[in-house]
Formats: sequence, structure tokens, C-alpha cells
Amino acid sequence: MHKERLLEIARTILSCPTAPFHEGAVRAAVVELLRPCRRVEVKQDDFGNLIAHYLGTDAESPARYALCAHMDHPAWVSPDGKNIASERVFLGGVPANYLEKNRGRTRDFGPFAMWDLPAFEERDGRIYSRACDDLIGCIVIVATLERLSEEGAPGSFYGLFTRAEEVGFAGAVGLARSGWLAQENVTVISLETSSERLPAKMGDGPIVRVGDKTSVFDHVVTAELMSAAERAGITVQRCLMSGGSCEATAFRLYGVRCGALCVALGNYHNCGPDERIESEYVSTGDVRGLTALCVELVRHPDGLPDPDEILRHRIEERLLQYQSYHDRDSGIPPNE
Ligand SMILES: [Zn+2]
Repeated sequence: MHKERLLEIARTILSCPTAPFHEGAVRAAVVELLRPCRRVEVKQDDFGNLIAHYLGTDAESPARYALCAHMDHPAWVSPDGKNIASERVFLGGVPANYLEKNRGRTRDFGPFAMWDLPAFEERDGRIYSRACDDLIGCIVIVATLERLSEEGAPGSFYGLFTRAEEVGFAGAVGLARSGWLAQENVTVISLETSSERLPAKMGDGPIVRVGDKTSVFDHVVTAELMSAAERAGITVQRCLMSGGSCEATAFRLYGVRCGALCVALGNYHNCGPDERIESEYVSTGDVRGLTALCVELVRHPDGLPDPDEILRHRIEERLLQYQSYHDRDSGIPPNE
């Protein structure tokens, strides 16, 4: 995907104000962006998630993957759903000292308020926004759907845009408990922005996330992600990103097969240096890499060799090389 088009999608989605349980603007923007995409059907489920289905040109083959990202971001919300001016609570993980010190720096959007920061800026190879987490994930899914739709590619897949992740995976848990994903035998790939922590480095490529703060994901899915990257010549980092828990953990708890991808995030949940609330930021190159990797993954949904079989074969071949040493076993060495 051309950088300009990706940034256009980014600008459109990042301009939408959002908060947990107030994802209406993002939802509407995603629907609008996907409207011209042929072979893409979009519906809203009972939990407020948006489910986009790309029907590949071989429509009878079932979807193997669902790319997943959440539409909300930590924000101030009116507890009674009326105007934010009267009373507000903060939903999402931001330390109390940051909330206390920056209380006045907000912008109201009816029943909720976000930090008063720019919605979208692109400079020095980075995207800055009040809400990279996880609108960047939503942008990548839209770009992937658009790309496959343009190509008329064969593989079917789902794009899941979930609700209220920041308060305990509300949309993801609703969907997981419905049993639909497990029943369809769909593998969920959680797309996230995750606090930059060593050894991951911003700008060094998208991250194949082997796990998060609370659990590790399916190692075969992780291997599939690595081989997709290798096939397409995309440089990736393979890391456990422990800065937070992502939706793969939530889905996994309900028996859904999961893997995860992310890009490194600066100023996680808007927490900048010196207790200042700041824009979050990601590397534009990492986001492009993540999009290319998602396109590669869903474009070739089957025909992937079993990664465990390949590894077993490689180890056994190697063992054969050393067989003669084994045969010459000299027993207990003599004392000098
Ligand atoms: Zn997130």
C-alpha cells in the first residue's frame, strides 16, 4: 500500500474522537471507508463490535484468520451517559498522578472527553496522535481489507473492530463467549500498539508478539506469522511485549487460537515524561510494515507448511550429521 493512502486512512480514523463505550465515530468512519470495497461485508454484532468479512474470490473457502483491533482509548466519561460537564470518571489505565496533574487539559465530546491533544500529525517518520492505541490497529485492518478488495485476492478473512478494550476487553469477551470464533475455527491475530520496551525498538519493524503481560500465545500461529514475514521479505522483531495485556489473552481464555502483532508505542496511554500528558506516537515505517505483513498473511491463508514439522525435520537432519560421533561413544573417560 502506498504511504500516502495509508496516511489518508490514518488521518480519517485518528480524527474520530473515542472513549470506552463511545466508539460511534470510529465505527462510522470504518463503515464509510469500507463502503467502496468490493467483496467486503460489514455488520455490527450484539456487543457493539464491527465485523468486516472479506469474501475471497474462492468464496467457498472459509476464513482462516480474523485480524482484531479495538476502537476505544482511555478517556474521561460521564457516568450517567449525559453531558460530561457535570461529572466525570476516567476509564482506562492511567496513573492517578497523571490524572491529577492534567485534569484541566481536556476537550469535551458530549458524554465524554479526551485529552486536548492533536488528533493526527505526521512528522520525522512518526505518527503522533491523542489515540494511537489502538486506532493504529484499526487503520491497519482497513488498509488490509482495502488492498485485498482491490486485488480481488482469493483468501477470505475477518476484520474485527472491538469495543471497550480498555475497561477489560468488553467487546472481545462478548464475542469470545458467543462461541462463534471457536466454532468457525478462526485464528485471531490481535493487532496492537504496545509500550516500547527492550529488546523491541521503534523503527526496527513490526513486532511478532509472542505474548503479553499475562500470557503467551499459540506458538504455531507465531511461527506462521514469522514465515509470512520471511516470505514477503519483511523485517520483523520477535518479542514478548509485557507492557500490557492484549485481546489475544482475552480470546485465548475462551478457547480461541490466537497470535499477535504490534508496533512499538511511545508515550503509552499518553503518559509522557515529568507527569505530562502527551501525544502517543509510532513509527510510520513500522505501521507500513505491519500492513504489508497482514496483507501477506491473509493473502495466502493455506498451503502454509506445518512449522513444527519443518523444525522437527531440521533437527533430525542435523542429528544425522553427528551420528558417527554418537556411534564412537568412548564410555567413561580415563583419569589422567
Ligand atoms: Zn490497546
